[in-house]
Amino acid sequence: MPLLLDLHPDAYPLTGYRRKQLLEWVFVHGAASYAAMSNLPADLRAELEQTYALNPFTRTETFESSDGSVKYLFTLPDGRQMEAVYMPYLDRKTICVSTMVGCPAKCSFCATGAMGFGRNLTPGEIVGQILAVSWQQGFSPREMRNLVFMGMGEPLLNYDHTIAAARILLHAQALGMSKRRVTLSTVGLAKGIRKLASEDELGLKLAISLHAPDEDTRQQIIPTGQANSIAEIMAAAREYQSVTGRRVTFEYAMLSGVNDHLWQADLLAELLRGLVSHVNLIPMNPWEGSGFAETPEAELQAFYDRLEARGVPVSVRRSRGRDAGAACGQLALKQPAAQISP
Ligand code: SAH
Repeated sequence: MPLLLDLHPDAYPLTGYRRKQLLEWVFVHGAASYAAMSNLPADLRAELEQTYALNPFTRTETFESSDGSVKYLFTLPDGRQMEAVYMPYLDRKTICVSTMVGCPAKCSFCATGAMGFGRNLTPGEIVGQILAVSWQQGFSPREMRNLVFMGMGEPLLNYDHTIAAARILLHAQALGMSKRRVTLSTVGLAKGIRKLASEDELGLKLAISLHAPDEDTRQQIIPTGQANSIAEIMAAAREYQSVTGRRVTFEYAMLSGVNDHLWQADLLAELLRGLVSHVNLIPMNPWEGSGFAETPEAELQAFYDRLEARGVPVSVRRSRGRDAGAACGQLALKQPAAQISP
């Protein structure tokens, strides 16, 4: 059965005010079933029930971290599984969504890469992650104000579905999110970044997983780096900035002894010259068998200080949800220690 959420809001079934009512039930009230849509006539609800599936998942499990973030494990109708992370920071509810089951990029420090590629998610399976969280948490889907495409998968390798999902997120009759609060993170695919720059009226925040400023190190840890040189990635980032006018974020997971030398901070500052950018240093999140260690705190601070001294806007992103296996690079379906519901 087709998935209702796969449709662009303009293509929803029904016409006129009935269509508007349906969209409101789905995105404003967060109805988890057609039966709950009480102002739609019963025969209409029955027809929808038989034509479009509303819930993309056959099972939703949650694992809560001691810091308040919640990992969601979703089972798809074909039995495959993927994850999202809900981060209820103070007044801004944030979700980290997956665009694939697994990931083909195979970055050596990432647990999702180690599990390999399963399949692409459809637009509805991406947007459905927000709805499922709002159903479970009991708030309107519209209350989710921030979204990052930083879960499992490489969004630019599931390009069409990710863009279709983004258009649903931003659509005024759907989730009505601000493009300023939607971030697409990519392993760094120059062609994909250029294509994204050319999308009409999208202008999402872009984050690039650079992780090393020199080719030797980058290619050693990021296989897709072989076909995407740092120079090409930087050129694409500059193009993205000039077209969209947006600051570009660079993600940098600190891997002890690999990419945390001070000469690499100097080289990174060099690369970013002239670009309105921001560097996010991410302490390496450990997982069994990764073969990488966290950069010690003092060295991380020194790397940070060096970037700052060179005029690079930098922050440290301390990942949430480590104890629930929900932190950056840990999404790989392992049963975490802190499980709250089966
Ligand atoms: N494929 C996209 C989306 C994943 S986002 C991308 O590569 O950007 C997840 C972020 O966490 C990426 O920056 C990724 O490189 C980073 N990451 C992966 N494994 C990590 C780990 N073990 N510790 C910290 N960050 C990690």
